[in-house]
Amino acid sequence: MALGVPSVRDGVPPVHEAIAAAVAAGTPAVSFEFFPPRDDAAADRLWTAVRRLESLQPTFVSVTYGAGGSTRDRTVRITRRIAEETTLTPVAHLTCVASPRAELRRVVGAYADAGVRSVLALRGDPPGGPGAPWTAHPDGLDHAEDLVRLVRGLGDFSVGVAAFPDGHPESSGPDQDAQVLLAKQRAGATFAVTQFFFDPAAYLRLRDRAAARGCDLPIVPGVMPVTDVRQVRRFAELSGTPLPAPLVDRLERVADDPVAVRAVGVEAATALGERLLAEGAPGLHFYTLNSSTATTEIYEALGLSRRRRAGPGKMPG
Ligand code: FAD
Repeated sequence: MALGVPSVRDGVPPVHEAIAAAVAAGTPAVSFEFFPPRDDAAADRLWTAVRRLESLQPTFVSVTYGAGGSTRDRTVRITRRIAEETTLTPVAHLTCVASPRAELRRVVGAYADAGVRSVLALRGDPPGGPGAPWTAHPDGLDHAEDLVRLVRGLGDFSVGVAAFPDGHPESSGPDQDAQVLLAKQRAGATFAVTQFFFDPAAYLRLRDRAAARGCDLPIVPGVMPVTDVRQVRRFAELSGTPLPAPLVDRLERVADDPVAVRAVGVEAATALGERLLAEGAPGLHFYTLNSSTATTEIYEALGLSRRRRAGPGKMPG
């Protein structure tokens, strides 16, 4: 069944083509990730961040899909609003958690009606939280790879998937992480975005392992600007991402000074981004945490305005 992908965004290239065009022009693709707000005050913060970051003309922005389905309607509403009221290209996250296939098809239909042509197809964390055993809905899907097939079967969508430089917590090891990425590509995925990480070598190892198996998806590294020590510790624990001891030491030394913490986080993320782009990463995906400040500071420190205007060979400085 083809839903007939809508005309609202006709003329806007699918996300994987926009990434490929950026890479071909020698300019990094840039994307920003947001999450659905819980209340009106948080919604104001989100839209302020969206509007500020819109001026940086990202390649795409994405909106997460709540764990266990908690924010599904809000995710669809926000993604629709981004498609209708901004100049941004939205990528809608979608997970298999607790959803029969019919519901997944309905949500994809809602995204299509909203003018969304790109979906990040994810399995989602187990309903009991990361670390709990995964149980699929009896009429649902077991793996992201199955969701990629479902979405591709519904229309002409650009479908992204998750990748894990430090390994997925349930995977048997780096070979499986690379093999799963290849399986997602074979199912129809056209780009990948990674979990946040701090060691550039972890990204390069995953990219090289996947490439050695024949996976040529653009793998956009996810960068998390650290602005809060406790928060990043919690995220790292949930995702299984190692926090480098020297970074933790630097953050702990200034833990009582939020401005200094952000400065350390921005400096670390800038160094990581610099190395990744130098190593040929196709771009950077920023976990904005619905705030524009740290993301903008990293963007500027990396000279991305200039690099993206100027094309290849023009380094910041
Ligand atoms: P899968 O690819 O299905 O992998 C899950 C596990 O199963 C892995 O260990 C994998 O190795 C294994 N596996 C995969 N395929 C097979 C197979 N065929 N046979 C055997 N084993 C297999 N979560 C949300 O709830 N909402 C979001 O919006 C969201 N956004 C995210 C965005 C990004 C960029 C990333 C990196 C993660 C995001 N997550 C989100 C978290 C993600 O849903 C979890 O990390 C989840 O546990 C794994 O999702 P996946 O799509 O990689 O699943």
